[in-house]
Amino acid sequence: MSTEPLKRVRIPVPEPLPGQVLIKVEVCAVCRTDLHLAEGDLEPHRPRTVPGHEAVGHIVAGATNADLTVGSRVGVAWLRSTCGTCRYCLRGAENLCLYSTYTGWDADGGYAEYLLAPEAYVYPLPKDHPAEKLAPLLCAGIIGYRALLQADLPPGGRLGIYGFGASAHLTAQVAIAQGAAVHVLTRSEKARELALDLGAASARGAYDTPPEPLDSAILFAPVGDLVPVALEALDRGGTLAVAGIHLTDIPSLTYERHLFQERVLRSVTANTREDGHAFLAFAAHNPLQVTTVPYDFTQATDALTDLAADRMNGAAVLHISN
Ligand SMILES: [Zn+2]
Ligand SMILES: [Zn+2]
Repeated sequence: MSTEPLKRVRIPVPEPLPGQVLIKVEVCAVCRTDLHLAEGDLEPHRPRTVPGHEAVGHIVAGATNADLTVGSRVGVAWLRSTCGTCRYCLRGAENLCLYSTYTGWDADGGYAEYLLAPEAYVYPLPKDHPAEKLAPLLCAGIIGYRALLQADLPPGGRLGIYGFGASAHLTAQVAIAQGAAVHVLTRSEKARELALDLGAASARGAYDTPPEPLDSAILFAPVGDLVPVALEALDRGGTLAVAGIHLTDIPSLTYERHLFQERVLRSVTANTREDGHAFLAFAAHNPLQVTTVPYDFTQATDALTDLAADRMNGAAVLHISN
């Protein structure tokens, strides 16, 4: 990682424009995308942007609709705005919008005491739940949920999960709750233990063969070398969904070995608000075990460094205010 990509600075509390709410942040979870931005795998969209797109807090100004008022607890996620008028927005695929903006990339995010967000893009959250357990749902949870949809898992199917960080550990629980047999493939022994604790049917090394052919697989590790490995583990007609926003180069594929028999390889790009609301509703009815590692606001760099070094199980969460 570049040395100290994060600097702690004092900036004025922003003023909400029409349609925006001002949120006092309680916690913000740390996502691998924050790391890709800090390390330069993703080009910055603007200089000196506050990172963070899994923020939980309370509205302190700007709320205008009946569902959200001053005092409402809300979550701010990755998708910050879409145009609503392009061909993708019009067909319900706002995740592909040509003019979408992202929290912590195009606008200041949640590693801050205050955060502005468009009212139409924040998610109402329950007040009686620890903020630390809600924050990782906002990206790790929502993106994983979309990846699971994109992986086309048949009812009672066999799902392979490659990599087992914050997003994977939530997605595995969703799939298990839906009746899937989940096989986890990851290099971290601690992550394999967590997977088995959460009900995975098996847990092996990242390059190992799962104990049975897979109907679907999701690649969470940002490692292109695993694409052929996962494709080869698929049964006929199986689908591999790549969940990350960044992936190292994929080695060349052999048609017969990796794709023939109607295996499908697809990417997952951000999410729609519909995905977000559907996942949060699922989580409200099927309590997920959210494994978190708390950090003080001042330790944001340590959290990114630990994530880069695979030193944590579950999701890092920065505690910003009460
Ligand atoms: Zn994220
Ligand atoms: Zn659009």
